[in-house]
Amino acid sequence: MDIPIPSGVLTVTPAFQPGDPPPDSYNDWHEWARIQYAAGLRQKRCGSCGRFNFPQELSGKTQAHHSQRRDGTRVTFVDPVCKRCDEKASAPPPTA
Ligand SMILES: [Zn+2]
Repeated sequence: MDIPIPSGVLTVTPAFQPGDPPPDSYNDWHEWARIQYAAGLRQKRCGSCGRFNFPQELSGKTQAHHSQRRDGTRVTFVDPVCKRCDEKASAPPPTA
């Protein structure tokens, strides 16, 4: 949070707890991420957008990708889906 003072801006970081949702402010995000990491939470890559997210940013849904090895064996990769991608997927299609 930025507080205007006569000589500039005073930036105050709120006290985050492990599991809190991510803040909107860029500067606050780094302190929030440091606390999440220190608490043992680790980021996982979203299978849809490729961005890394902490567990509280994931939708709980998964997305499967199928591939094939050189010997013909089918391989299935299951990746988590972040809340942003899940909201985009469940939003109604835009009307022209
Ligand atoms: Zn995503």
